[in-house]
Amino acid sequence: MFIGHYSAAFAARAFKPAVPLWLLFVAVQLVDFIWAGLVIAGVEKFRIVPGFLEASPLDLYYMPYTHSLVGVVIWAVAAALLYGAMRKGEKKWVAALILGGAVLSHWFADLLVHAPDLPLIVGEPKFGFVLWRSLLWSQVAEMGLLLGGFWLYLRNTTPKGFLGRLSPWLFLGFLMAVQAYSHMGEVQAGAPSQPFAITALLAYSLIALAAWLVDRTRQDAVRR
Ligand SMILES: [Zn+2]
Repeated sequence: MFIGHYSAAFAARAFKPAVPLWLLFVAVQLVDFIWAGLVIAGVEKFRIVPGFLEASPLDLYYMPYTHSLVGVVIWAVAAALLYGAMRKGEKKWVAALILGGAVLSHWFADLLVHAPDLPLIVGEPKFGFVLWRSLLWSQVAEMGLLLGGFWLYLRNTTPKGFLGRLSPWLFLGFLMAVQAYSHMGEVQAGAPSQPFAITALLAYSLIALAAWLVDRTRQDAVRR
């Protein structure tokens, strides 16, 4: 899953005390950030197989550190502890819990679309509901999730000015364009995995930066 992950980030922005949107955008992709790093380091592995699934050419056969359920829980707890320790003010541990939940959401969103390649710890059993088998239905799922989260974000924040009215829609268009781009182009069987991982890192970083910019043009909606 790619942009569907950001549904949880948009939705989590509504909770109080507020966690910055850019940080939530990093949190929901935290294990993919680490995954890309470990792929570049040669620790976790995948191979590129054209036609592997209709919506994904990635045979993700070894990623126990980042995409096992136990692994994701550990990353979520670590991120929450680190954030709670760094954040100031009251209810900082509630904010830490929100951040940890955002990290954890990654595994369950991936579960929808992945082939059975998500282990509990390492090796079998592995899980995945394989929505990537269908380009159409996987995109319906990702877009549905994203739009649901986006709607919550619009409801829970108000624009600071003209830019604030425009920016969320530009951002939504940007996310959809990146998603569409990720499904275009030919892939080479047996192509090296490092360039793919580097591209992924750049995309996740750019999207988190854009989230920071957008959230600067919005403020919390006053609840009546
Ligand atoms: Zn993932």
